[in-house]
Amino acid sequence: MGVRIVDIEAFLKAIPKVSLHLHLMGSVQAQTAVELCKKHNVSLPDFDEPEDLYDYPDIYKFLHMYDNTALGIIDRDDFARIAYETLTEAAEHNVRYREMSFNPTTHMAAGVSYETCVDGLIDGINAAQTDHGVECKLIAAVNRMESPELAVEMVETLLAHPREEVIGIGMDYAEANFPPEVFWKSYRMAERAGYRLTAHQAEDASPRNIETCLDLLGCDRVDHGYHVVEDEAVMRRCRDEGVVFTCTPVSTAWVYFNDDFDNHPISQMREFGLKISLDCDDPPMFKTDPTNDMVMAHNHMGFEVEDFRQSMLNGIDGAWIGEPDKRAMRRQWADEFDALATRLEQ
Ligand SMILES: [Zn+2]
Repeated sequence: MGVRIVDIEAFLKAIPKVSLHLHLMGSVQAQTAVELCKKHNVSLPDFDEPEDLYDYPDIYKFLHMYDNTALGIIDRDDFARIAYETLTEAAEHNVRYREMSFNPTTHMAAGVSYETCVDGLIDGINAAQTDHGVECKLIAAVNRMESPELAVEMVETLLAHPREEVIGIGMDYAEANFPPEVFWKSYRMAERAGYRLTAHQAEDASPRNIETCLDLLGCDRVDHGYHVVEDEAVMRRCRDEGVVFTCTPVSTAWVYFNDDFDNHPISQMREFGLKISLDCDDPPMFKTDPTNDMVMAHNHMGFEVEDFRQSMLNGIDGAWIGEPDKRAMRRQWADEFDALATRLEQ
């Protein structure tokens, strides 16, 4: 038996983690964003100091800043740097495996070629794996505020430049007024080409979007999904089918629930028995990290040690890796988790 762990925060930091819901751009440190904009002589309108950069009143201002920050990320080295930095932070929180979203069309609109972007990210991923032992795959995400035609082009771009690190597609940006069904074609194309599929749904719109995501788009997991609690039939179905929800307490409490952590639907989802895998979405932009989102889930959403164990196993279930690897991970990680849990002073 090792040294006693005196607080839940230290415990949550130490447990092994799968990270299925994290956005590359949302994980850029403010200081890095400012340095890269300076390097490329890009001015960040409305933002002068790193401290001001990640201060915004609503999701639309947030997305505006998000797109602006992308203008300073241009060279292959820049992409390598931001991937390496976020994975270095992840490793400090014992994230062992991550599937990280990035938006090819955002960077291509800024004049960057897809190859520069993706190969830079792969450089950063490889360096982080060498230095910290963290493994990372990539999800190319559709910006749902743009056209379905652009999403089709994005998938064509992936097909023209296949990289084994890019294993799936996702869908993000603001959901309200941007329904998922119009993107059926890009999802069908990606599925046929062997990509795995996920999408942000019922984060800020009807639970119907979850059905669309599962049945029309063919997704095998749901990012966010909080409005599922409004439709018991959809909830029951997701529970019966073991659909994994990748939930991010801190960013969504801020954006959608007025910082009311205690009434965040994640509690209800957990109580109902849905498979939740916790993650941190856009950590520096919401002043959080992989451990802090779990601490908030413990403090406000009823997550106890057993729920974190389950969240870890749900993350393994939802991950896009082969079944033999998953079996080995489940066994080994559960042992590590249990050994840490016996050292926690309750
Ligand atoms: Zn997200």
